[in-house]
Parts: sequence; C-alpha cells; structure tokens
Amino acid sequence: MLESTMMDYQLTIPSILERARRLYPAQEIVSVLPVGVDPATKAPIPGVHRTTYGKTYPRVMQLCNALAGAGVSSGDRVATMALNSYRHYELYFAVPSVGAVCHMVNIRLPVEQICYILTHAEDRILFIENVFAAQIPHIRQHAPKIKTFVVLGPCPGGLPEGAIDYETFIGAQPTTFTYPYIDERQASGMCYTSGTTGNPKGVLYSHRAITLHSLASLSTELLGVNSRECIMPIVPMFHVNGWGYPYTCAMTGAKQVYMSVFTDAKNIARFVAEEGVTVCAGVPTIFLGLLDELDRAKSAGTPHQLPTLGTLLIGGSATPRSLVAAFSDRHNLHVKPAWGMTETTPLGTVNTVQPGDFADDREHKYDRMTFSGRPSPLVELRLEDDDRNEIEWGSGQSGRLLIRGPWITGSYYHNPEATAATQHDGWFDTGDIATIDADGTMMIQDRAKDLIKSGGEWISSVDLENELMGHPAIREAAVIAVAHPKWDERPLGVIVLRDTNQSPSKADLDHYLLERAVAKWQLPDAYEFVDEIPKTTVGKFLKRALREKFKDYKLA
Ligand code: AMP
Repeated sequence: MLESTMMDYQLTIPSILERARRLYPAQEIVSVLPVGVDPATKAPIPGVHRTTYGKTYPRVMQLCNALAGAGVSSGDRVATMALNSYRHYELYFAVPSVGAVCHMVNIRLPVEQICYILTHAEDRILFIENVFAAQIPHIRQHAPKIKTFVVLGPCPGGLPEGAIDYETFIGAQPTTFTYPYIDERQASGMCYTSGTTGNPKGVLYSHRAITLHSLASLSTELLGVNSRECIMPIVPMFHVNGWGYPYTCAMTGAKQVYMSVFTDAKNIARFVAEEGVTVCAGVPTIFLGLLDELDRAKSAGTPHQLPTLGTLLIGGSATPRSLVAAFSDRHNLHVKPAWGMTETTPLGTVNTVQPGDFADDREHKYDRMTFSGRPSPLVELRLEDDDRNEIEWGSGQSGRLLIRGPWITGSYYHNPEATAATQHDGWFDTGDIATIDADGTMMIQDRAKDLIKSGGEWISSVDLENELMGHPAIREAAVIAVAHPKWDERPLGVIVLRDTNQSPSKADLDHYLLERAVAKWQLPDAYEFVDEIPKTTVGKFLKRALREKFKDYKLA
C-alpha cells in the first residue's frame, strides 16, 4: 500500500466543541426549565435559561477538570439521568473530552431496570436531575459501583446524603483544560436499547462515529442543519444521542432550544413562537398532539403564529400520511420522516422530498413524503429474504433490512448472544421489514415481530395503522395480531377515538380502508376501542403490552 500524504487527524468531539466556541460564540442555547409550581393547577411553571456556545465553553472546561479531579479517565463510564437542558449539553461534551464515556440513561424506565443498566455499564459516577434525586438511596444500594452522585438543578429541600450539587462540583474549577490524546475509535457515548424484549442492550458510540454522523447531518440531503436554523429537539437527550442534535448543532452553530419537562403541545407552540424555532424533531405522538393544538387554536379563531417554523422532523415510528397532509394543507408545515435506531447513532435514512417538489401533484407528493427515506451518505442498506438471499432494490418485494456504515454498531456491549444474533457478514440486521425502491427510497413495513401472518401471507400492521389514523374520528390506532383457528393470526385494530360519542362502525372502517386500497383479506377482523394506547418510554406504541392485554381475544 502506498501511504497517503494526509495528516492522521483524529475525528473527535473536542474539535466540535472548539469550533462552536470560536465560530459561533454568540449563538444561543436556550433551556426551558421548571422554576416553580402553579398553586392552582400544580403544573410546573416554565422559565427560560439562556446561554451561548461562548458562555457554555468555560463551564464545559470546568466540568472536564472536575471529572478529572474525581478520578474519571479514559474509558470510564459516566452516567446521566437528565432532562434536556444546557447542563445535559455540558455533559455531552465534557465527558468525552476527558476520554470517558457519556452514558445517557433512559429516565423513564422503572428504577429496577435503570439499576440493571447502571450495573451492566459499570458506571462509576451519576449526574442525576433534581427531580429524580429521591431515587439516589435506592440506586446506591442496587448499583453499588457508582461512587459519586452529582445532582443537576437546585434541591431546595436539601441534597440527599452523600450527593453533591452540580454547581458546587464544577464551581471552583479552572476554566481551561488540556485534553488528553483521544483516539477517534475510542468510545465517547453509550445508550441502551429500549428493551422491548428482554434486557436492554448497550451500544457504545465512538468519537469518529459521532463526528461523521454530525457532518453528514449538515447535508441538505439529510437534516440540513446550519447556523441560520433554530432547532427544538423534542426527542429526549437519552434517546440515541438526542438524535445527534447537540453535536450537529454545535458543529454548525445552530441555535438550540431544550424543553426539559415542557413537551406538551401548548408549550411547544409557545416556545417555537418566542424563540423563532425553524425545526422541531420528535416522535409521531408528539406531533399528533401538536396538530390537534394547532387545529384547535385555528378553529377558535386564535391561530398560533409560528412564522419561522418550516420543518417537522419525525422519527422513531412510521409517520402516518394523514399527518404529512394535515400539517402541509392546514398549517403549511413540511414533514420530514427519518428512520434510525439506537444501534445506528441514529440516522439511517431521511426523506429527501423538499417543500417545493411535485408542486403539480399534491397527492403523489404526500405519498412520497410518507416514505422512510434514502440512506445517508456513507451508510449502505440491503434487503434479504428469510434465507438470507439479497432482494434487489426496486423489485417491490419486502424483506429484512440490513445496514452498515461508520456509525452503525458492530456489536453490543458485553452481550455476545445479541451480537451473534444481529451481525451477519459485516451487516447489522435491524429486525425491521422494509421495501427499497430502485432509487434507494426505503419504507419500513413493520418490525419483524409485529407483522401479522394470516394464512401464510404477511399483513403490515404499520400500513393499517397509518390508514386508520387518517380517519377523522380516530386519534390513535394500533394493529396487532390475535390468534385465529383457521388463519393462524388475524389483525385486531385497537382504537382511541377523538370523541367517544362518535364511534365509527366496523362497516364504516372497512369501507374507509377499502377506499384506500387496503385489500379485503387484510382488513382487521375486529376493533376494540380504548382510552389510551400504552406507549414506550420514548412515546412509541407498546405493542407488546397490547398483545398481552388481548392475548385471549376471541374473534367472532
Ligand atoms: P429505537 O432504537 O428505540 O430508536 O428504535 C428503533 C426502531 O424504531 C426501528 O428499528 C424501527 O422499528 C422504529 N423506527 C424508527 N424510525 C422509524 C420510521 N421512520 N418508520 C418506522 N419505524 C421507525
């Protein structure tokens, strides 16, 4: 091999941090944080904390020094149980900058599962939001490797015994820090999968993966993040690196707005308006709520004025076509679906239809806008049938989706069984079933385990859900398989109505689906109306819970 003359420059997170403070010192990081409780409603009252890339930098340096002073060094795992805010942002940068691993723990899991994860990851220090500080004694007992507890945010009732306040932890530290040598391949961050089956599995991200993922996200073919944008990631920062936004925004100097506990539609609309947000990112359930709120305000004659907002980036679950059309037709907002996983840092594909595309054919445009999108540069997709034969793109056939690239996991942390089950010849098997068009546009059909097998033929629960959620009487719809004596499995639709007094009949719903090109044999055999569909900790439908609830369901 003839070696190149290029520098052996390491792709590391400190280089993103240094760029942000030098190039975009005045750009803001806004955190909407609870500052009290409304005595009448008992709801938290939002207050605005404002900082900039310039002002946050010396605090990150102080945190680096404090971590080093606490004995944290290369490869150590440092856990966060934190809300979206500037403090979590500081941890995102400081922990990897000392060579350690920022382990973002899902705060919505039961505390037993959190302790399992903390123990499995061998975290030795935990940064915990004040609202969870009461859990410290339990965590101390069940995750004994954690020696230091640092509480984020004020604790008016006093700190739990043995814990230290974040501002005290960093306060006396110098505002300069000399980074250790960091190899781009070393681990910088860690997330566990949401663990819908079995225990959660750990994924370790590298400096190189994060840097390349951020760089790719700047492309207009992906997220198009740039310094003129103001991004509100409504996705929690513990969910797959906050979809990469903290790093991507810092790399390009975009303004960031963190909502902590204020992720309801009214507060989203309020702070989008007040802060001039241009892009909101979150799971579909967040945007179903936002759509209702925008519609309500409009029909009440007091529409929200959101002149800066242009794009809603929706990922984590399939985006119903009805949501794409409603936001576009009624509120002039462009929906951009994206697909990814904890194992993919997360960006795998992004829908690349632009607001001006297909201007003369709106229906076709909405069809195209519902796809999961095309692969990011440097990421490759592959479809396989059950015998591991490759399925050609454009064949129309669906199959198992595999992926490879520099920010796709090549194993699970200390979990050889799960690794062996998902890694095949250098590809990661996502467990998703998808189609890929000839031009590389991918569409998720279902999770493999959520497909419904009826008389040997597969029915996509996602397709049915997406059509049903377009029905004017339906707020949410999930479709699951229930046992059938003749066909093995048949679909059951589980529905949340907008108005419980306006319940469509089965014949109405059949008619509605048939009109939308659903085949007769794919129609759900029955519908159950419920008050709420159980959700995962990140707001996706929890089908496992529905299957459990309806496991003895008898179809007529
Ligand atoms: P998680 O690791 O919790 O982010 O979950 C990843 C899974 O979410 C994927 O394997 C998909 O099943 C699902 N998912 C993510 N994005 C989409 C999307 N745009 N459309 C359909 N499913 C999605």
